[in-house]
Amino acid sequence: MIIIMLGAPASGKGSVAEIVSEKLNIPAISSGDIFRKHITEKTEIGLKLNEYVTKGELVPDSIVIEMLKERLSEEDAKDGAILDGFIRTIPQAEAFDKMLEETGNKINIVVNLEVPEQEILERVTNRRICKKCKAVYNTVLSPSKVEGICDKCGGELYQRDDDTLEKAKNRLNVYYKETAPLTEYYKNKGLLYSTVLSKSINRMKDEVAKDVVAELGK
Ligand code: ADP
Ligand code: ZN
Repeated sequence: MIIIMLGAPASGKGSVAEIVSEKLNIPAISSGDIFRKHITEKTEIGLKLNEYVTKGELVPDSIVIEMLKERLSEEDAKDGAILDGFIRTIPQAEAFDKMLEETGNKINIVVNLEVPEQEILERVTNRRICKKCKAVYNTVLSPSKVEGICDKCGGELYQRDDDTLEKAKNRLNVYYKETAPLTEYYKNKGLLYSTVLSKSINRMKDEVAKDVVAELGK
Protein backbone atom coordinates (compact mmCIF):
# COMPACT_ATOMS: atom_id res chain seq x y z
CA MET A 1 0.00 0.00 0.00
CA ILE A 2 1.25 3.46 -0.93
CA ILE A 3 -0.27 6.67 0.38
CA ILE A 4 1.02 9.99 -0.94
CA MET A 5 0.57 13.18 1.07
CA LEU A 6 0.31 16.45 -0.85
CA GLY A 7 -0.07 19.92 0.55
CA ALA A 8 1.75 23.19 1.07
CA PRO A 9 4.71 23.51 3.47
CA ALA A 10 3.56 23.02 7.06
CA SER A 11 0.05 22.11 5.91
CA GLY A 12 0.07 19.18 8.32
CA LYS A 13 1.24 16.40 5.96
CA GLY A 14 3.68 15.01 8.51
CA SER A 15 1.23 15.11 11.41
CA VAL A 16 -1.54 13.39 9.47
CA ALA A 17 0.95 10.86 8.07
CA GLU A 18 2.10 9.95 11.60
CA ILE A 19 -1.44 9.23 12.78
CA VAL A 20 -2.32 7.22 9.67
CA SER A 21 0.96 5.34 10.07
CA GLU A 22 -0.02 4.22 13.56
CA LYS A 23 -3.50 3.21 12.47
CA LEU A 24 -2.31 1.18 9.48
CA ASN A 25 1.02 0.01 10.80
CA ILE A 26 3.08 1.12 7.81
CA PRO A 27 5.92 3.65 8.10
CA ALA A 28 5.51 7.36 7.36
CA ILE A 29 8.51 8.48 5.35
CA SER A 30 9.38 12.17 5.28
CA SER A 31 11.74 13.44 2.58
CA GLY A 32 12.52 16.55 4.62
CA ASP A 33 13.50 14.48 7.69
CA ILE A 34 15.78 12.25 5.62
CA PHE A 35 17.38 15.25 3.91
CA ARG A 36 17.88 17.15 7.19
CA LYS A 37 19.49 14.07 8.76
CA HIS A 38 22.05 13.99 5.94
CA ILE A 39 22.61 17.72 6.33
CA THR A 40 23.25 17.61 10.10
CA GLU A 41 25.46 14.57 9.74
CA LYS A 42 27.33 16.37 6.94
CA THR A 43 27.36 13.32 4.69
CA GLU A 44 28.53 13.74 1.11
CA ILE A 45 24.97 13.89 -0.17
CA GLY A 46 24.07 16.16 2.77
CA LEU A 47 26.46 18.87 1.58
CA LYS A 48 24.78 18.85 -1.81
CA LEU A 49 21.26 18.85 -0.33
CA ASN A 50 22.08 21.76 1.93
CA GLU A 51 22.43 24.16 -1.02
CA TYR A 52 18.79 23.64 -1.95
CA VAL A 53 17.09 23.02 1.37
CA THR A 54 18.44 26.10 3.17
CA LYS A 55 17.23 28.31 0.29
CA GLY A 56 13.82 26.66 0.26
CA GLU A 57 14.38 25.43 -3.28
CA LEU A 58 13.61 21.97 -4.54
CA VAL A 59 16.25 19.27 -4.52
CA PRO A 60 16.86 17.90 -8.08
CA ASP A 61 14.40 15.16 -9.06
CA SER A 62 17.10 12.55 -9.71
CA ILE A 63 18.45 12.80 -6.15
CA VAL A 64 14.95 12.66 -4.66
CA ILE A 65 13.99 9.57 -6.64
CA GLU A 66 17.23 7.78 -5.83
CA MET A 67 16.72 8.39 -2.11
CA LEU A 68 13.08 7.32 -2.25
CA LYS A 69 14.01 4.09 -3.99
CA GLU A 70 16.61 3.38 -1.33
CA ARG A 71 14.22 4.09 1.54
CA LEU A 72 11.41 1.98 0.10
CA SER A 73 13.73 -0.99 -0.25
CA GLU A 74 14.19 -1.13 3.53
CA GLU A 75 12.54 -3.97 5.43
CA ASP A 76 9.94 -1.91 7.31
CA ALA A 77 8.48 -0.63 4.03
CA LYS A 78 7.87 -4.04 2.50
CA ASP A 79 4.08 -3.73 2.91
CA GLY A 80 4.07 -0.11 1.82
CA ALA A 81 4.56 3.39 3.14
CA ILE A 82 3.07 6.82 3.54
CA LEU A 83 5.10 9.33 1.56
CA ASP A 84 5.25 12.72 3.24
CA GLY A 85 6.83 15.28 0.92
CA PHE A 86 8.52 12.82 -1.37
CA ILE A 87 6.54 13.47 -4.55
CA ARG A 88 6.64 17.19 -5.31
CA THR A 89 6.98 17.61 -9.05
CA ILE A 90 5.41 16.04 -12.14
CA PRO A 91 8.73 14.42 -13.18
CA GLN A 92 9.02 12.88 -9.68
CA ALA A 93 5.47 11.51 -10.00
CA GLU A 94 6.26 10.04 -13.41
CA ALA A 95 9.50 8.47 -12.21
CA PHE A 96 7.67 7.05 -9.20
CA ASP A 97 4.99 5.52 -11.45
CA LYS A 98 7.76 3.76 -13.38
CA MET A 99 9.34 2.55 -10.14
CA LEU A 100 5.99 1.11 -9.02
CA GLU A 101 5.52 -0.68 -12.32
CA GLU A 102 8.84 -2.41 -11.76
CA THR A 103 8.07 -3.42 -8.19
CA GLY A 104 4.41 -4.29 -8.74
CA ASN A 105 3.30 -1.95 -5.97
CA LYS A 106 0.55 0.64 -6.38
CA ILE A 107 -0.69 3.96 -5.06
CA ASN A 108 -3.91 3.53 -3.08
CA ILE A 109 -4.69 7.16 -2.37
CA VAL A 110 -3.21 10.63 -2.78
CA VAL A 111 -4.24 12.89 0.08
CA ASN A 112 -4.24 16.59 -0.71
CA LEU A 113 -4.48 18.86 2.33
CA GLU A 114 -6.18 22.16 1.65
CA VAL A 115 -5.17 24.83 4.15
CA PRO A 116 -5.91 28.57 3.87
CA GLU A 117 -2.75 30.52 2.95
CA GLN A 118 -2.78 32.75 6.02
CA GLU A 119 -2.94 29.66 8.20
CA ILE A 120 -0.02 28.09 6.32
CA LEU A 121 2.26 31.03 7.06
CA GLU A 122 1.21 30.97 10.70
CA ARG A 123 1.85 27.24 10.91
CA VAL A 124 5.30 27.54 9.38
CA THR A 125 6.52 30.29 11.68
CA ASN A 126 5.01 28.68 14.79
CA ARG A 127 6.46 25.25 14.03
CA ARG A 128 9.01 23.80 16.45
CA ILE A 129 10.78 20.47 16.12
CA CYS A 130 12.47 18.16 18.60
CA LYS A 131 16.20 17.86 17.93
CA LYS A 132 16.22 14.30 19.19
CA CYS A 133 13.02 12.52 18.08
CA LYS A 134 11.83 15.00 15.37
CA ALA A 135 8.36 15.33 16.94
CA VAL A 136 6.62 18.43 15.58
CA TYR A 137 4.92 21.07 17.76
CA ASN A 138 3.16 24.34 17.09
CA THR A 139 3.56 27.10 19.65
CA VAL A 140 -0.13 28.02 19.27
CA LEU A 141 -2.04 24.98 18.00
CA SER A 142 -0.18 22.19 19.76
CA PRO A 143 2.45 23.54 22.17
CA SER A 144 4.68 21.29 24.25
CA LYS A 145 3.80 21.13 27.96
CA VAL A 146 7.06 22.84 28.93
CA GLU A 147 8.19 25.55 26.53
CA GLY A 148 11.15 24.48 24.41
CA ILE A 149 11.15 20.87 25.66
CA CYS A 150 9.76 17.81 23.86
CA ASP A 151 6.89 16.06 25.69
CA LYS A 152 7.87 12.69 24.26
CA CYS A 153 11.60 12.51 24.91
CA GLY A 154 12.69 15.63 26.80
CA GLY A 155 14.76 16.78 23.82
CA GLU A 156 15.32 20.41 22.94
CA LEU A 157 12.90 22.06 20.50
CA TYR A 158 14.22 24.23 17.66
CA GLN A 159 12.97 26.20 14.70
CA ARG A 160 14.08 25.08 11.25
CA ASP A 161 16.31 27.52 9.29
CA ASP A 162 13.81 27.54 6.47
CA ASP A 163 10.78 28.21 8.70
CA THR A 164 11.18 31.99 8.67
CA LEU A 165 8.39 34.05 7.10
CA GLU A 166 10.53 35.11 4.15
CA LYS A 167 11.73 31.62 3.29
CA ALA A 168 8.27 30.20 3.84
CA LYS A 169 6.88 32.62 1.25
CA ASN A 170 9.48 31.42 -1.23
CA ARG A 171 8.65 27.77 -0.47
CA LEU A 172 4.97 28.53 -0.92
CA ASN A 173 5.68 29.98 -4.39
CA VAL A 174 7.69 26.89 -5.28
CA TYR A 175 4.78 24.79 -4.05
CA TYR A 176 2.22 26.61 -6.24
CA LYS A 177 4.43 26.37 -9.30
CA GLU A 178 5.87 22.86 -9.01
CA THR A 179 3.72 20.81 -6.64
CA ALA A 180 0.15 22.09 -6.95
CA PRO A 181 -0.14 20.76 -10.54
CA LEU A 182 0.18 17.24 -9.08
CA THR A 183 -3.42 17.37 -7.87
CA GLU A 184 -4.55 17.40 -11.51
CA TYR A 185 -2.12 14.59 -12.35
CA TYR A 186 -3.50 12.29 -9.66
CA LYS A 187 -7.09 13.41 -10.16
CA ASN A 188 -6.84 12.15 -13.71
CA LYS A 189 -5.75 8.79 -12.35
CA GLY A 190 -8.73 8.71 -10.00
CA LEU A 191 -6.50 8.68 -6.93
CA LEU A 192 -7.00 12.14 -5.46
CA TYR A 193 -8.65 12.71 -2.10
CA SER A 194 -8.72 16.45 -1.35
CA THR A 195 -9.71 17.50 2.11
CA VAL A 196 -9.66 20.68 4.15
CA LEU A 197 -7.50 20.96 7.24
CA SER A 198 -8.18 24.22 9.00
CA LYS A 199 -8.67 25.53 12.48
CA SER A 200 -11.27 27.95 11.04
CA ILE A 201 -13.71 25.06 10.72
CA ASN A 202 -12.20 23.12 13.61
CA ARG A 203 -11.07 20.31 11.36
CA MET A 204 -7.61 19.25 12.43
CA LYS A 205 -5.17 16.36 11.97
CA ASP A 206 -6.99 13.62 13.94
CA GLU A 207 -10.23 14.01 12.05
CA VAL A 208 -8.47 14.21 8.69
CA ALA A 209 -6.43 11.08 9.48
CA LYS A 210 -9.60 9.21 10.46
CA ASP A 211 -11.24 10.20 7.17
CA VAL A 212 -8.20 9.08 5.16
CA VAL A 213 -8.41 5.61 6.69
CA ALA A 214 -12.17 5.52 6.03
CA GLU A 215 -11.57 6.52 2.39
CA LEU A 216 -9.15 3.63 2.00
CA GLY A 217 -11.80 1.20 3.16
CA LYS A 218 -14.30 2.33 0.51
P1 ADP B 1 7.62 21.13 4.53
O1 ADP B 1 6.98 20.06 5.36
O2 ADP B 1 7.63 22.45 5.22
O3 ADP B 1 7.05 21.21 3.15
P2 ADP B 1 9.89 19.38 4.15
O4 ADP B 1 10.52 19.02 5.43
O5 ADP B 1 8.95 18.39 3.54
O6 ADP B 1 9.15 20.78 4.37
O7 ADP B 1 10.99 19.75 3.06
C1 ADP B 1 12.04 20.61 3.36
C2 ADP B 1 12.84 20.93 2.12
O8 ADP B 1 13.43 19.72 1.59
C3 ADP B 1 12.08 21.52 0.94
O9 ADP B 1 11.92 22.91 1.07
C4 ADP B 1 12.99 21.14 -0.24
O10 ADP B 1 14.13 21.96 -0.28
C5 ADP B 1 13.46 19.75 0.16
N1 ADP B 1 12.57 18.68 -0.35
C6 ADP B 1 11.82 17.84 0.40
N2 ADP B 1 11.14 16.97 -0.37
C7 ADP B 1 11.45 17.26 -1.66
C8 ADP B 1 11.08 16.72 -2.93
N3 ADP B 1 10.22 15.70 -3.05
N4 ADP B 1 11.62 17.29 -4.03
C9 ADP B 1 12.49 18.29 -3.95
N5 ADP B 1 12.87 18.85 -2.79
C10 ADP B 1 12.38 18.35 -1.64
ZN1 ZN C 1 11.53 14.47 21.23
